[in-house]
Amino acid sequence: MNFKDYIRVIPDFPQPGIRFKDITTLLKDGAAYRAAIDALKELVKDKQIDLIAGPEARGFVIGAPLALALGVGFVPIRKSGKLPGNTVEANYDLEYGKDKLAIHSDSISPGQKVLIADDLLATGGTIATSIKLIEQLGGEVIGATFLIELGYLAGRDKLQGIDVSSLITYE
Ligand code: AMP
Repeated sequence: MNFKDYIRVIPDFPQPGIRFKDITTLLKDGAAYRAAIDALKELVKDKQIDLIAGPEARGFVIGAPLALALGVGFVPIRKSGKLPGNTVEANYDLEYGKDKLAIHSDSISPGQKVLIADDLLATGGTIATSIKLIEQLGGEVIGATFLIELGYLAGRDKLQGIDVSSLITYE
């Protein structure tokens, strides 16, 4: 399946100059969504994974079904102020804008092997911050997997030492 055919590119959203990769066109197609999750599972199935962590909101849409497919748990990483329990938090920069991410302090036990899943790797800021939070809890990040990678933003370079994989790349 050519997954790129299911992604809609919207120019100048949410601000001029950004070419937004809209995955809702893939998600609404049951066969394509299923095939994308199956293909991501293939990419990571040889890793020993205890948990998948995904940043809101599209990291949930990719990470949770991938966790189910692999038979492991899912840990949400959310914007500050959304999680009800005790959290650890960190600031980060986006391709457009700034934000603060949080994770429940008791969501990962020391030594657990965590795979990060998200819809798209852009600058890598979100994932670098997610790694920081997971490592602060003693988790070991054993990889990061994405539906889409924007090669021209070189997010990979920000994730030195992390095994990065993706289904689709835009150069
Ligand atoms: P970053 O922290 O720069 O790697 O960006 C992380 C998140 O921002 C991704 O997971 C996307 O949800 C969103 N994002 C950034 N750039 C784009 C884009 N060009 N199209 C769609 N989503 C984007």
